[in-house]
Amino acid sequence: MPTSPRGPSAATPSFAAWAAGGYANDPLPRRADPARLQNLGGPTMGTRWSLRFDNPHLLPLDAVRGALEAALQRVVAQMSHWEPDSDISRFGRAAAGSRFPLPAEFAQVMACALHWAKASAGAFDPSIGPLVGLWGFGPGAAADAPWIGDGALAAARATVGWERLRFDPAARTIEQPGGLSLDLSAIAKGFAVDHASEALIALGLSDFLLEIGGELRAVGHRPGGMPWQVQVDVEGTGPHRIALSDRSIATSGDRWHRRSEAHKHWSHTIDPRSGRPASAQVAAVSVLHRSCTEADALATVLAVLGPDDGPAFAERHQVAALFHLRGADDRPNARPSTAWLATADPAR
Ligand code: AMP
Ligand code: MG
Repeated sequence: MPTSPRGPSAATPSFAAWAAGGYANDPLPRRADPARLQNLGGPTMGTRWSLRFDNPHLLPLDAVRGALEAALQRVVAQMSHWEPDSDISRFGRAAAGSRFPLPAEFAQVMACALHWAKASAGAFDPSIGPLVGLWGFGPGAAADAPWIGDGALAAARATVGWERLRFDPAARTIEQPGGLSLDLSAIAKGFAVDHASEALIALGLSDFLLEIGGELRAVGHRPGGMPWQVQVDVEGTGPHRIALSDRSIATSGDRWHRRSEAHKHWSHTIDPRSGRPASAQVAAVSVLHRSCTEADALATVLAVLGPDDGPAFAERHQVAALFHLRGADDRPNARPSTAWLATADPAR
């Protein structure tokens, strides 16, 4: 959950029209929508949430906003390492050897994070925080963080390592091995979309499109019965418009969270295996999945794995992914996985 203000933008003019929508995904307004399409929005996690929904039972807007904001607040109180009193921050301060009880939502996110950490052989690492900070991102990081030398890198790497975490999903506890902190930013925004969506469904909504900073989940249809639609922009090749019904889309990339020094540019996606920023050849990766939590985690996994291993991993795990790659000559190109081609219905 990047809860920082956005870093300097590397967006080209072609992104400007929808930059406010988050990373790369933008809900498309349709002129054909009847008047009962309603919109709400607000700040959260250093970005914004926005909700478009059909409200046939005329639920009070305050009730919709209240349910949604309460769900988001639960996620922040548990999993934002920007909040000193959150559960995740308290875990970072817990005594070595202590078993830390996790709330149900936190435990669910932890299970997903550790699943992909293992499946990706450590490309995804929920204990990555100190390295993220070293490269100039996350709470307390210097905005002008320089390119990092080997000595500082080795010290930070010694404090990172998901394999040292002892998570007991049945007891919902996690052991603090000593000095380990958690950073769930790569997955918690997607989880927040899922969690808030459940709250909206419980309230009685059955047709809505919820977005937090570019991670989206579509439930049901837009008023009039047509699927919700989102636009995934690929630099140089134009927008991909896709229909989205009872599915989510999440994107990882380097467009908003970037640092540079001299001729070096890097983003907030860090490869834990080297301790260094992931390949700049991946401009962005979008993933389609029923669960926004899974889509968010997988988009980060694929961005870390890079332009060769990422697409191979997507094929092996049948992930519906669209890679936006920068070629050797810096020319962008779109590379969809087989599952993306099979499931990303073009919007009509
Ligand atoms: P996302 O935009 O979902 O890809 O998340 C990016 C955020 O995830 C960064 O700001 C970091 O806090 C965190 N992060 C960076 N690299 C990794 C990694 N290899 N594994 C897990 N989380 C990461
Ligand atoms: Mg992610």
